Amino acid sequence: MPQLSRRTETFTDSVIRRMTRVSLKYGAVNLSQGFPDFEPPKEILDRLAEVSREDFHQYSITWGAQNFREALAEKQSRLMGRKIDPNSEIVVTCGSTEAMMAAMMTVANPGDKVIVFSPFYENYGADAILSGAEPIYVPLYPPEFGFKADELEAAFRQKPKALILCNPSNPCGKVFTCEELKLIADLAEKYDAFVITDEVYEHIVYAPNKHIYFASLPGMWERTISCSSLSKTYSITGWRLGYIIAPPEIIDVARKVHDFLTVGAAAPLQEAAVTGLRFGDEYYADLAAKYTSKRDLFLRGLDDLRIAHTVPQGAYYILLDISEFGFESDLEFCEVLARDVGVGAVPGSSFFREPVNHLIRLHFAKRDETLYEALNRLEGLWKKIPVRK
Ligand code: GLN
Repeated sequence: MPQLSRRTETFTDSVIRRMTRVSLKYGAVNLSQGFPDFEPPKEILDRLAEVSREDFHQYSITWGAQNFREALAEKQSRLMGRKIDPNSEIVVTCGSTEAMMAAMMTVANPGDKVIVFSPFYENYGADAILSGAEPIYVPLYPPEFGFKADELEAAFRQKPKALILCNPSNPCGKVFTCEELKLIADLAEKYDAFVITDEVYEHIVYAPNKHIYFASLPGMWERTISCSSLSKTYSITGWRLGYIIAPPEIIDVARKVHDFLTVGAAAPLQEAAVTGLRFGDEYYADLAAKYTSKRDLFLRGLDDLRIAHTVPQGAYYILLDISEFGFESDLEFCEVLARDVGVGAVPGSSFFREPVNHLIRLHFAKRDETLYEALNRLEGLWKKIPVRK
């Protein structure tokens, strides 16, 4: 057989998504891959049923249906504090996964560097490799997961093309403060770099933390490529609806990349999702309240387990410290956890540049009864997973 592409040799399949398959295999409560088990808003589902009988079965315009871009522009203009033009400043993509990949391919040439904070969402490593870019990792330090300004500036001195900013952060739950964002903005300006944001958890933020759109900082609109999606906000991860918002010159190029990558996001789903994009502000307040209550429920349960864990400021992930179990491999720990305890988790090593294997990630985007079931199974964890010496 002829040789397969070299670019695919240096990364594996996604461990996050692999752990969903492991969870299914063992019948585990799947708290690995982050997606809800509760229903999307009824209004969106009702609209979906109508749409199936309307005329939305062929391609939409490649960069997104007009109706969808207009509704999205209206919502994001309100939130980002700037008038966004639906006709020149938006590309609708197949999830933010495609948005991030398209953003990377829009800015990076092979050999270009990009700054990635560690821990990071798994996809960015593969995105960098696929687009030929080389990541420079800058550590975030627990418990607040802040960065050191001198380490970030040292990374910028290597003349990166872009910095990737996941805010609120997966997996560490960090919500960047205004001061931190301004520091990043100053460096991006000083070293003339783009900032590619992944803001899919923009509406899942716990008080008193607040989400600040990087593009809304003074002078940052011109150099920010904002990526996000409807997956988390409307509990429709399977619909694969994401988008890029950026200035027209960047969008022109991102549209080309997107056009040849996927042609377009699913037309009927875009039309049905317009209903969600038109929700009033109370929908987003309710969503944050719902996740706050899930976070509190789950954290209280985990505290009873006496395992050290992070407390997220945003997003819906928790990192648990499993050092005391004495496993050499966090991947093996997660296999054992799924098989013998019946709870699916993601090994922390999937998210860190540093050789970290004492953490696992659980998420709490689940119905309360699912969370209680997981907590029940985790009870007596120490008896179910013997400590390794
Ligand atoms: N963002 C979610 C996670 O980190 C799901 C990602 C995905 O599989 N597309 O688990």
